[in-house]
Amino acid sequence: MGLFDNLFERKTCDICGDKCGVLGGTKVKDGRLCKSCVSKLSPWLAGLKSFSLAEIREHLTYREENQEKVKNFNITHVIGDKGTKLYLDVEKRQLIITGNSNWRSSNPDVLDFSQLVDYDLKINENKKEIMKETSDGKKESYNPKRYEYSYNFYVYINVNSPWFNTVSMHVNNSTIDGYDNEEYEEAYLFSEEICEVLSSLKEGSLEEINDIVDYYKSQRSNKRTYDSTYYSDTKAYRRGVDYYRERDPRRSHYKF
Ligand SMILES: [Zn+2]
Repeated sequence: MGLFDNLFERKTCDICGDKCGVLGGTKVKDGRLCKSCVSKLSPWLAGLKSFSLAEIREHLTYREENQEKVKNFNITHVIGDKGTKLYLDVEKRQLIITGNSNWRSSNPDVLDFSQLVDYDLKINENKKEIMKETSDGKKESYNPKRYEYSYNFYVYINVNSPWFNTVSMHVNNSTIDGYDNEEYEEAYLFSEEICEVLSSLKEGSLEEINDIVDYYKSQRSNKRTYDSTYYSDTKAYRRGVDYYRERDPRRSHYKF
């Protein structure tokens, strides 16, 4: 066999024995995995290179057991809108976080409420200067400078799992332009609702979860507007008003 043949000889997967792709598959600490085996791993599993083949085998067993949990998962609540959603089965005290609409076939990790550690809301603001064009075709700043803003809403959840520590939710599915519009408000309310529900899952009752869901449903239909009274109704705020106010970039744009 010449050098050329060796170079293009397909490597085999150390888990299932199938051929890896032309690029040699995905490396782990002491071996490699084919595409099909990689697709069976949890999407939250990070840093594959630090896992040994023995650990990967153990993880795949966990993933098979997870598939059974997915089959038996009975949705009682769905929270979220266009992006990543939170699914609950309050009878079994389990949750699923996924952005996949065809989620049953994607084997999303089923977590117990008791595995939740904490979470944080993060709204990323992106700022871009708007320039004007001068008569000779050059770009120039306005005085004072003008900006356009865009936003993405995330909830980061720390969980107690042998396989991963952080699960992230991208609440909106595409970047939202500006803060003074319905899209922003909707993504904001869903983010707040997700946070409130998450914090009630560990010790809260089913009644409380239902109360929170009803509360946010009414907030959405009431078209709550961002003004000085925005945070005055603290009914469902387990985390407290200040927590949300501090994390909402609108705070720096409106002076109340
Ligand atoms: Zn394989």
